[in-house]
Amino acid sequence: MLRALFIALSESRWLRNVAERSRIGQRTSSRFVAGTQVADAVRATEAVNRFGASVSIDNLGENVTNAEEARASAQLYHHLLDEIAARKLNANISLKLTHMGLDVDEDLARDLVRGLLARVVAMSPKNFVRVDMEGSPYTQLTLDFVEDLHRVPGNAGCVGAVIQSYMRRAESDIEKLLSQGIRIRLCKGAYKEPPEVAFQKKSEVDANYVKLMKILMKSGIYHGLATHDEAIIKEAKAFATREKIPHNAFEFQMLHGIRRDLQQSLVKEGWGMRVYIPFGTEWYPYLMRRLAERPANVMFIAKNLWRR
Ligand SMILES: Cc1cc2nc3c(=O)[nH]c(=O)nc-3n(C[C@H](O)[C@H](O)[C@H](O)COP(=O)(O)OP(=O)(O)OC[C@H]3O[C@@H](n4cnc5c(N)ncnc54)[C@H](O)[C@@H]3O)c2cc1C
Repeated sequence: MLRALFIALSESRWLRNVAERSRIGQRTSSRFVAGTQVADAVRATEAVNRFGASVSIDNLGENVTNAEEARASAQLYHHLLDEIAARKLNANISLKLTHMGLDVDEDLARDLVRGLLARVVAMSPKNFVRVDMEGSPYTQLTLDFVEDLHRVPGNAGCVGAVIQSYMRRAESDIEKLLSQGIRIRLCKGAYKEPPEVAFQKKSEVDANYVKLMKILMKSGIYHGLATHDEAIIKEAKAFATREKIPHNAFEFQMLHGIRRDLQQSLVKEGWGMRVYIPFGTEWYPYLMRRLAERPANVMFIAKNLWRR
């Protein structure tokens, strides 16, 4: 019920405009968002690198409505990659295709992502672009995009996809991606999807996650297990030990601001750990999805606002 409400709120353009411009909105978002500037993302990345985890930096934004905005978003990612290289950060980038103008002009989005990928491939060592997965109207397009980009000579291993375990099609998508050697981030899924498309019960989504996670872990390709679910993380560790899968053959991934304790303890135990750090002025839909996942965050945020 509350999940559906927050997801509906995440889609409101009016609220987004009001919230993103307000001071209180910016303070509210700081629990999950590193800040509004590249320098904020760099600072947060350095802090995470210091405790031994790697990072994926996300320049927040989605569903841009004109080509100029899309070009500006891509430009900001180029700037980020410059910073990653200059400061030798242990970080890659995550982006959304609708932020690169997918709704405006598919060819433009393709060109912009291709340009970023060319930059990533030219870096030493080569870097990596993760294409986030959005709502189901974009699933096929996004996977096609990643497959096309991965096929370009030189790009293999430098671009990866995301699979959401709530999607009924997830297993067949995984089979197809694995057959091409594409790296996958597995997550549960953050959007509101109808029952024809996605499992609705948490128990089904979790069971599918565990099933898919084991397929990925045994694939011999380096994947990311994106979850804060302690039971699943425990099961992943036990599976790795049982199947003699080395600690560095995959990585756990978590979001900035969520379960830092768990992030650090996984690092101490020697597991790969990557933290997803979002930054930027367009934080509203991202924050609403975090509230949808855990409505108790509303109270947490309210208390922190009161304290300051
Ligand atoms: C690195 C990363 C990248 C992601 N990329 C995508 C993507 O591309 N597309 C997509 O659809 N989704 C993405 N997600 C979001 C994901 O789909 C889930 O919505 C989110 O991770 C919550 O699911 P969970 O696996 O943590 O399990 P849940 O069962 O939701 O939560 C398990 C436990 O984690 C903690 N927790 C979970 N969420 C929160 C929160 N918001 N605040 C505080 N505690 C919380 C709580 O302790 C909770 O009990 C990503 C998540 C991560 C970690």
